[in-house]
Amino acid sequence: MAKALVLERQKELRLRDIDLPLVPGPDEVKIRIQTVGICGSDVHYYTHGRIGPFVVERPMVLGHEAAGTVVEVGAGVRHLSVGERVCMEPGVPDPQSRASRLGLYNIDPAVTFWATPPVHGVLTPFVVHPAAYTYKLPDQVSFAEGAMVEPFAVGMQAAHKARIAPGDTAVVLGAGPIGIMVAIAALAGGCARAIVADLAQPKLDIAARYQGVVPVNIRETNLVEEVRRLTDDWGADVVFECSGASKAWETVLDLVRPGGAIVAVGLPQGPVPLDVSAATTKEARIETVFRYAHQYERAIALFASGRVDLKPLISETFPFELSVEAFDRAVEARPTDVKLQIRVAE
Ligand code: NAD
Ligand code: ZN
Repeated sequence: MAKALVLERQKELRLRDIDLPLVPGPDEVKIRIQTVGICGSDVHYYTHGRIGPFVVERPMVLGHEAAGTVVEVGAGVRHLSVGERVCMEPGVPDPQSRASRLGLYNIDPAVTFWATPPVHGVLTPFVVHPAAYTYKLPDQVSFAEGAMVEPFAVGMQAAHKARIAPGDTAVVLGAGPIGIMVAIAALAGGCARAIVADLAQPKLDIAARYQGVVPVNIRETNLVEEVRRLTDDWGADVVFECSGASKAWETVLDLVRPGGAIVAVGLPQGPVPLDVSAATTKEARIETVFRYAHQYERAIALFASGRVDLKPLISETFPFELSVEAFDRAVEARPTDVKLQIRVAE
């Protein structure tokens, strides 16, 4: 038995004992969890009990953005040893699957992902995980930053799919945690500037702390006109849609330059209309992002180099005993909060 933050059903969260695997098998490691970030999806399961086809039908432990310390290694594990600080990829594919063999392991239909029903998450003191999806943290990268690798990897995947060239101009729609991290990854990937658009000024103020971010409040400023002005009527090389608002799709084709790319990161609730003729006339390239593959090492390398610092995005850290309070704070969705984290162990 282990203590864990259990979503019993929609709107009912409890810190209680639950049976979880605690013995590492071959090629697995056991990790003492130190820090876990709260993701919008954790919050959505709490408030709505489902995301699309994934429905909470029995009690499920929440949390998938995690870092900790290796406390036990299973047979055959070579690249990790006891005492090492690590962060983990929450999605584990079937290594034999066609998608995995193609290197597209994030879109393996058989992938299991922490805190996606019926798979338990990691808001609990210990977890057993495949060593192959567990990554060493350099000394200069804290546990708190280690727990930011997961959402940042989404930004890394988006920057990768965009095929950024040095000096590109990006537009990022939405300055939530994902939009801000996409902007930071796009800048690290060579963009000269990232024009970040949102309606919430506090979020834009936080994004604007990063060099290269040009904040645009779409309540006050017409974004299409502003992007035209900033790009001499040419448009942005890349538009990252990170709001998940279907309305945002109404402007993407006016924002992108001829031959530019539109990268879909946000997940709208339903289908959105897209002017295919307008997209074709511009030969706009449309890319999609589902989580990430092969991005953890690169993300950790950027943190370790000091070129990417996500610490300003960590708004508050709660002790494990106050996990329910931490989630209720996340439900409040304060515009000044970017990332809330829970410290499971000292
Ligand atoms: P969030 O709700 O915290 O942020 C969304 C932001 O968009 C908010 O700040 C909101 O004010 C802003 N917004 C709303 N309408 C807008 C508009 N028309 N134009 C510009 N901004 C607008 O969400 P988040 O956690 O940052 O996640 C963003 C999206 O990314 C969500 O849809 C989420 O489901 C999705 N997501 C996708 C992946 C993936 O793998 N593709 C991974 C994680 C999250
Ligand atoms: Zn997440």
